[in-house]
Amino acid sequence: MCIGPSAPKDSYLKSDRVIAAAEIADADCIHPGYGFLAENAAFAEKCRDSNIGFIGPTAEAMRLLGDKASARVLAKKAKVPTVPGSDGVIETVEEALPVAVKIGFPVIIKATSGGGGRGMRIARDEQEFNTFFPQAQQEALSAFGDPGLYIEKFLDRPRHVEVQILADQHGKIVHLFERDCSLQRRHQKLIEEAPASTVDQRTRDDLCKAAVRLCRAAKYTNAGTFEFLVTGKRTFYFIEANTRIQVEHPVTEMITGIDLIKAQIRIAAGEPLGFSQRDVKQNGVAIECRINAEDPHNGFRPSPGLIEQFRAPGGFGVRIDTHAHDGYDITPFYDSLIGKLIVHAATREEALKNLERCLDEFLISPIKTTIPFYKQILSLEAFTKGEFDTGFVDRTLQVDTV
Ligand code: ADP
Repeated sequence: MCIGPSAPKDSYLKSDRVIAAAEIADADCIHPGYGFLAENAAFAEKCRDSNIGFIGPTAEAMRLLGDKASARVLAKKAKVPTVPGSDGVIETVEEALPVAVKIGFPVIIKATSGGGGRGMRIARDEQEFNTFFPQAQQEALSAFGDPGLYIEKFLDRPRHVEVQILADQHGKIVHLFERDCSLQRRHQKLIEEAPASTVDQRTRDDLCKAAVRLCRAAKYTNAGTFEFLVTGKRTFYFIEANTRIQVEHPVTEMITGIDLIKAQIRIAAGEPLGFSQRDVKQNGVAIECRINAEDPHNGFRPSPGLIEQFRAPGGFGVRIDTHAHDGYDITPFYDSLIGKLIVHAATREEALKNLERCLDEFLISPIKTTIPFYKQILSLEAFTKGEFDTGFVDRTLQVDTV
């Protein structure tokens, strides 16, 4: 159903148009996906006011957790560790500098309404801080309509580990264990896996319990993710919550055998979860590569255009989630994600072997994709041994990624 011109601001970001489309289609509910209005509390409210179900949390829970500074306050109340940083939003650079000095450089400046790395800056000293703070404020204002910033200590070589939650409307909360999303470029995820290979059982239990506590404190329902940074043994800090399904949810589906989207729809319909924590088991290892229409040899520049040939790999333990096919034209208007390659095997070693084979067989041409980049990553011993952190790509592959 056409809801407007290609530019998102004239179509997918216009809630009235989306709701009108749902009314014309006689839909009972809307699944908001990952992007656009998926974390927009006002949209969830509009759905409710229009008698259309919103497949996600309540607007109230979304507001509480969607604002990163207020999510930090809630985490502290729920006795979940947060990264040392400012108490809430700081308005001016004059007010912020002494806080940054007290935390100790390097610090990371973040937008309270932020996402996708926008409005985020790392300052290594006072001078950088004075320059970056107003820049981040401006970027946050233009990207999110909210200039609010807060500051955190910039942690040294952490791993990004997040916990998947499902909560029904009858007070039942379960976690579906964790995912490691440390393989990032410029703080954006590229490869995700479950379980996190470097997390021991005690840390896993602690992380999952912390996420459930936070979920309960926010009176959160439906699917959600609580993100943490893990530094060294058993030390972790909550960074933010994602009040929607995430791109990387398939790795959790593969290891637990639970269809998260189906669970989301059932929860939104008011049904009970239908299973308990003890029914959720981790089985094997799943790894996902985000296939983006970007040129990894040219600064990851977007590479829109016509796909003349599209041939996906297959076989046991291989899953491809994509909308692309032969003859598909990738427009420049949307996110460059064109597919997800997910492999599932008994061990990480087997999963990596399968992934390598799939990357070799995957044919998408003539547009450029991130497939060659993943082949390069898989050839690095540090990656195959699981010895990487969130800065690994930017440090190791500097030449290709600038
Ligand atoms: P966004 O919502 O914009 O993606 P996040 O708060 O989720 O921002 O952080 C994204 C990534 O940025 C993290 O996975 C991590 O790599 C990096 N990051 C965020 N906060 C810190 C921190 N305090 N120290 C070190 N790295 C951080």
